[in-house]
Amino acid sequence: MLRQVLLAASRRDGVRRLAETAPYTRSVVRRFIAGTAVDDALRVTEELAASGLLVTLDHLGEDTLDPGQAERIVTGYVTLLERLGSAGLGQRAEVSVKLTALGQVLDGGERLALKNAQRICHAARAVGTTVTLDMEDHTTVDSTLRILEDLRADFPDTGAVIQSYLRRAEEYCADLAYEGSRVRLCKGAYNAPESVAFADRREIDKSYVRCMKVLMAGRGLPMLATHDPRLIEIAGALAVLNERSPEDFEYQMLYGIRTQEQQRLAGLGAQVRVYVPYGDEWYGYMMRRLAERPANLMFFLRSLAGD
Ligand code: FAD
Repeated sequence: MLRQVLLAASRRDGVRRLAETAPYTRSVVRRFIAGTAVDDALRVTEELAASGLLVTLDHLGEDTLDPGQAERIVTGYVTLLERLGSAGLGQRAEVSVKLTALGQVLDGGERLALKNAQRICHAARAVGTTVTLDMEDHTTVDSTLRILEDLRADFPDTGAVIQSYLRRAEEYCADLAYEGSRVRLCKGAYNAPESVAFADRREIDKSYVRCMKVLMAGRGLPMLATHDPRLIEIAGALAVLNERSPEDFEYQMLYGIRTQEQQRLAGLGAQVRVYVPYGDEWYGYMMRRLAERPANLMFFLRSLAGD
């Protein structure tokens, strides 16, 4: 219930303004977000890379309402990628992109988002790295998978994301478990009706395991995005069962969450990629993190009150 309220609030402009202007939010937000500028993103990437971790960078923004805003997001990504290249970080960091930030839900938005994503993929290729398409609200899944297919014609290393809360998740994983296919598996962070998504956490976890089995037995590169200790343990067992070496799959976690576990896995020789968001438009991202964990909500509310 609380989760649904927070996810609904993530799309309310009034609440967004209150949160963005509250005096102390900045320090709280910094726990989950690298900062607002490209320099912040680069600094955090360098720190994580120095401690043996891989990175995927998210230039924050979503639900773009006009083509000009989409253009600014594309320019932001191109600049970021150029800076990653100059800093020699192309092998350690890739980018994660939300298609709604590139105009996907505007009129004729699917073509615009595809063109914009192609520009970002070109910039990524120029510095020797890749792009992963984040998966958003359930209403955008079909369109995102179509754009992915078109993008992969020219950029086969473009990463996909499948959310295990979707009833069709296992089917999507089977379709995407082919040679060279990079697939991030996550539980799913948006509100979705029961007709398309499991609501029960145990059902979502069971679906995650079924999807992991498909991806780990397949021929692509599974990118297992979760902080859940049980799922991380099962992932390790499936790697052994399917004779996957550490280079043949990734663990992925969010910046600021279970950082010791990130280090522990990397210390064991696993590939661990940290999802690092940066930029001004942190509100929607932050609200989804709060919806996942009430303890974070209390921390955030205290900061709004100036405590
Ligand atoms: P949960 O059951 O939520 O949590 C398991 C345990 O992890 C908790 O008990 C707690 O110990 C810890 N934990 C989890 N969340 C938090 C938190 N916010 N603060 C502190 N501790 C926490 N979702 C999408 O819908 N689309 C995407 O494209 C997408 N990309 C992602 C990329 C990465 C790299 C990751 C890690 C997640 C991504 N997500 C995405 C979010 C994902 O769907 C989940 O909402 C989120 O990861 C929480 O689920 P969990 O698997 O960690 O399990």
